[in-house]
Amino acid sequence: MDGFSTRALHADASLSESPDVAPPISVSSTFVDGTGRRYRRSSHSTTERLEAVLGSLDGGHATAYASGMAAASGVFDVVQPRKVSLPEDVYHGVRDLVWDRSDRGMLEVVAPEDLTRGDLWWIETPSNPKCLITDLEDVAARTSGTGIVTVCDATFATPVLMQPLTFGIDVVMHSMTKFIAGHSDALGGVLVTRDESLAARLTSTRSITGAVPGSLDAWLALRGVRTLELRVLRASSSARDIARWFVDRDVHTWHPGLDSHDGHEIASRQMSGYGSMMSIDLESAEAADRFVSRLSVFTNATSLGGVESLAEHRLRSDPHIEPGLVRLSIGIEDVTDLITDLDQALSLPQ
Ligand code: PLP
Repeated sequence: MDGFSTRALHADASLSESPDVAPPISVSSTFVDGTGRRYRRSSHSTTERLEAVLGSLDGGHATAYASGMAAASGVFDVVQPRKVSLPEDVYHGVRDLVWDRSDRGMLEVVAPEDLTRGDLWWIETPSNPKCLITDLEDVAARTSGTGIVTVCDATFATPVLMQPLTFGIDVVMHSMTKFIAGHSDALGGVLVTRDESLAARLTSTRSITGAVPGSLDAWLALRGVRTLELRVLRASSSARDIARWFVDRDVHTWHPGLDSHDGHEIASRQMSGYGSMMSIDLESAEAADRFVSRLSVFTNATSLGGVESLAEHRLRSDPHIEPGLVRLSIGIEDVTDLITDLDQALSLPQ
C-alpha cells in the first residue's frame, strides 16, 4: 500500500473489529473486564484506527489529542524543555502557551543557537498567518546529534504536501480540527514521531492528563482524512490562482506559491504544493473589516482547512498582528465564484 490516498483509506483495515465497511463510532467509556480494553481514556478503537492512518501518512507513530493545542501541550508535558525557540511568525495559541510557561518560570524563550540537549525547537511551516517558510533540512542538520527536540507544526501543509519526519524532524504536529477533519465540525490534534519510546511516553502521558479526543471527533477526523488528498489538492490549486489574482491587483499577499514570497524556493524543495492558506494586507483595520463584511461566498469566521472558504480579519484573534491583515482559507468551491466574490468586495469604494 504505497499510494497516499490508498493509505488514507485502508491503513487502519487490520484494526477493524466488526464487519462494517464504515468504521463504527465507539462511544463506551468503559469496557467489560478481561476483554483487552478497560477505560476509554487509555484505549479507544476509533482513535486507534485514526492513529494508524495518520501514522502511515506521516511515516511514524501517531498519538491523537482532543485539539491541536492539547497536542502542543502534550509535547511540552513530555519533553519539559528548559529552553524553547519559536519562529518569528507562529500560531498565537502556541505563542501564548510558551509565554504562559515562561511567565511561570517553567522555561525560557531563546534563539536556536542557545538551545542545548533536552531543549525544544518549535517550527511552524508554512506559518500562521503569514505562510513564512522554515528550511526543515537545515533545522535537522543543525540539531542532529545534539539532543535538541525539533517539533514541526505542519497544520497548513498537511501530510499531503509535506512530511517533516522525512527531513529528520523529530515530531510533526497537526491541528486535526483543520484540514484533516476538514469540515469545520470537529476538534482534534495529533503528534507523529519515528521515536517509539517518545511515542509511548506521549501516549501514556495523554492517558494521565486526559487530553484524548472524544469519540465523535475521532470518528469525524477518520472520515475526513479519507478525502484529505482530494480536498487539499483542489483547494491548493485554487489558492495559487487567487494569490496571483491578488498580486495582479497590487494587493500585498503572503502565499508560498508566489515567486515573490521569501520562502518560495525552500517551499518548492520541501513541499509538493503550496497549500490553500494565504494572507493579504489591506493596510488598515477599517479596510480589512469592510472587506470581510462584503464577502458572501467566503464566510467571515476564524479557523481554516474546511471545505468552505473562510476569511478572517486577523486582528480579532491576534492583537500583535498587522491591523489590515486578512487571512484566507481557500475551500473547494469553484475558483471562479471565489474570485468573483473577492472582486466585488475589493472593487466597492473603500
Ligand atoms: N497550529 C496551527 C497552525 C493552528 O492554526 C491552530 C489553530 O488555529 C492550532 C495549532 C491549534 O489547533 P486547535 O484549534 O485544534 O487547538
